[in-house]
Amino acid sequence: MAEELLDSLEAQGYRSTSPRRAVANAIASQQRHFTAEEIRERLPKVGRATVYRSLKLLVEAGVLCRVLLEDGDLHYQLSHRGHHHHLLCVECGASEDLLGCDIEDLLRQVSSAHEFQLSGHWLEVYGRCRDCISTQTQTEKTQMANV
Ligand SMILES: [Zn+2]
Ligand SMILES: [Zn+2]
Ligand SMILES: [Zn+2]
Repeated sequence: MAEELLDSLEAQGYRSTSPRRAVANAIASQQRHFTAEEIRERLPKVGRATVYRSLKLLVEAGVLCRVLLEDGDLHYQLSHRGHHHHLLCVECGASEDLLGCDIEDLLRQVSSAHEFQLSGHWLEVYGRCRDCISTQTQTEKTQMANV
């Protein structure tokens, strides 16, 4: 995974220097979405600018994507290439990719009605994941049983 990240930087003309290698390794070892600060804390020897710049380049390369949590925190996660959205669980933070996009037509209509030239959109979907729903249902059942 780290190699894939470095390859995508090299494809944009950025050699894999040892700080970039360290950033790529730190990202590749993340299980879930993470903040830029989390990466920076893990790599005290790598400059802040290098961390932020690498993240930006990886987003541009499409191998990393931005995830906006409901509370406004910006996270990053390893990405599917191409346009997609996320289903974000507000309970446990799980994120599931939503491939395919059904809102393009709607946005084109809305934009043209406002004489607005559409250049893109960003959509995050918040709610509860399968696991959290079933945990919640079980808790409710237990509570009912205890009454
Ligand atoms: Zn994504
Ligand atoms: Zn959940
Ligand atoms: Zn979309």
